[in-house]
Amino acid sequence: MTNDLLENTRNIGFIAHIDAGKTTVTERVLYFAGRIYKIGGVDEGTTAMDWMAQERERGITITSAATTCTWKQYTINIIDTPGHVDFTAEVERSLRILDGGVVVFDAVAGVQPQSETVWRQADRYNVPRICFINKMDRVGANFFRATDSIARRLNANPVAIQIPIGEEDDFRGVIDLVDERAFFYEEDGPPAPDKGPREGPVPEEMIEEFRNYRNVLVEKVAETDDELIIKYLEDEEISTEEIKRALRRATLDYKVVPVMCGTALRHRGIQPLLDAIGDYLPSPLDVPPTEGKSYSTGEPVERHPNDPDAPFAALAFKTVSDPYIGRLVYFRAYSGSAASGSMVFNATKGRRERLGRLVQMHANRREEIGEVKAGQIVAAVGLKTTTTGDTICGSRDDATVLETITFPDPVVSVAIEPRSRADQDRLSDSLTHLSDEDPTFRVTYDDETGQTIISGMGELHLDIIVDRIKREYNVEANVGRPRVAYRETVTGAARAEGRFVRQTGGHGQYGHVWMEIEPLERGGGIQFESRVTGGSVPTEFIPAVEEGAREALASGPISGFPVVDAKLTLVDGSYHEVDSSKVSFQIAGSMAAKSLLTRGKPTLLEPVMKLEVVTPGEFLGDVLGDLGRRRAQIRNIEGVGDVQSVRAEIPLAESFGYATAMRSLSQGRASYTMEFDNYVEVPKELVESA
Ligand code: GDP
Repeated sequence: MTNDLLENTRNIGFIAHIDAGKTTVTERVLYFAGRIYKIGGVDEGTTAMDWMAQERERGITITSAATTCTWKQYTINIIDTPGHVDFTAEVERSLRILDGGVVVFDAVAGVQPQSETVWRQADRYNVPRICFINKMDRVGANFFRATDSIARRLNANPVAIQIPIGEEDDFRGVIDLVDERAFFYEEDGPPAPDKGPREGPVPEEMIEEFRNYRNVLVEKVAETDDELIIKYLEDEEISTEEIKRALRRATLDYKVVPVMCGTALRHRGIQPLLDAIGDYLPSPLDVPPTEGKSYSTGEPVERHPNDPDAPFAALAFKTVSDPYIGRLVYFRAYSGSAASGSMVFNATKGRRERLGRLVQMHANRREEIGEVKAGQIVAAVGLKTTTTGDTICGSRDDATVLETITFPDPVVSVAIEPRSRADQDRLSDSLTHLSDEDPTFRVTYDDETGQTIISGMGELHLDIIVDRIKREYNVEANVGRPRVAYRETVTGAARAEGRFVRQTGGHGQYGHVWMEIEPLERGGGIQFESRVTGGSVPTEFIPAVEEGAREALASGPISGFPVVDAKLTLVDGSYHEVDSSKVSFQIAGSMAAKSLLTRGKPTLLEPVMKLEVVTPGEFLGDVLGDLGRRRAQIRNIEGVGDVQSVRAEIPLAESFGYATAMRSLSQGRASYTMEFDNYVEVPKELVESA
């Protein structure tokens, strides 16, 4: 890809919590920007036609993991981001591969509790963003109040780059504060996709308001730029171009967040939003180079999208089973290029495989492309071993492993049993597909009971999966009660010995170690360090000690749950010239670790969920009462009008059946989101019953 093309590429996501209008905004963007038809190469023409026939068969899809559209000189790749915070893993993966975001708010509600969650996630991934205040047509819509709430509640520096013309039912256009122009929407129904708003000068009666807000804009932008601030203070003229350039810089540097408005439902404000995506959101060239590690040496490597000599490296971020074309792997190329059908090297798994056909998804069709280049987001049909989070490279020699996408381990599981033999086959099939698509969904078999166990990130997550298994794959199955994935850990430091010595005739066994254990912070995992000096445990046996110790930690002393958040240190030991072996040290390591666990004051940990309930005020008492019975810790209660929102932390074990309870105690009017937060100690008095 030439730099021009890269410069005009935008990999973005629409970020919003449920109901702000994300789907409608995306649909409208694709309506205005998705219509342009462009066939890749001449010889691909027929294949493109094949794709189209299939498209007709199955109807138009607008939601795929990434959809490409074209607006003016820009190629915009829209990465699907979930609106529901229950699906943290989905949010994490999409934020990882997009360069910029459009955050959608409701003009009546402004910043809502759940918008804060997505905002913080975008902060964590350093995603430059613009805000779109949607639903300007609703009764009670207020652009300025919504913008204020962004400053107040999100601690951001919003700057209005538009002001609305009219509000609520009378909302009929926007004034562009940068370009000093007005856009009027005069049609009531949906306009033709290529029909833009009428442009004109700022209406006479709004001149004063326009000047005020333009001044605020110029001042805020000037403050971010050393040269402009001098001009501003000395009352010199600042050109539109200068404002645009500085505003873009400031947005990319997270110093300001441009705010715009419209109503997606009524097709208003969408074209200016598309312009702003081009003007103010980053291209792949604007974001820092991607970091990874060399496959062969483990040395850190940087990959730049515009380096013509850089080898191909791409990150797979989503896999989908499409009933018509099979397994699709979506990936983003970070450097170099690769041709469809070529052999590639999966550096995460250390396996070579064929890339297969490459396709780009548009609003209403798939386009087969011959080659993928740095900065692009495409899907491959035919990759077999590649899964989400893997790095795909050109060849083994110059392979890099890019930083992977990390997913939390599942916290809840249920047993699922097919009703008949035929269901059994369909069930296995569905589980293979679903766990391939969703890295936080796992399938295991319990050898003791012969049951299939499925695990996920919460009750709702598993409910949705079970529903898909039943509906999409036609499986009749019984589902057991949900079970919590407890963990165990130590709360104190300890020192212990592991001695495995056998003298049986000829060749004996000799492994002997002294080890220490200490607690780590939550999320610390298991760490192992050797502080052996003077060769009391020969270096070649140390990995075996670690292996044995880690094996022992897979099953804790209280109830056999995996042990987490502890550091093991190998401090001393002894060996025998002839009898010592890997196996004997592995057993010694395991013996030491077991005794460390019982001495280190073990305790049980349980997953705790972060819960946000939004309820009409009249049900607040009942909601709180119910939470009290569920061992929840209330963090915050806040009211806007008659709507109360409660934030709490609730043990997963107490959260089962929450959806039903909430529905019945609020007559279906309260809503909530719940996501895994962290592990905490189970109160002592409950450990017995767990
Ligand atoms: P999502 O959950 O964020 O994807 O939101 P949707 O796009 O599904 O919209 C949620 C609801 O808000 C739907 O009933 C939409 O019709 C409605 N909606 C979306 N945009 C607007 C708008 O601009 N004005 C009004 N009045 N309603 C809207």
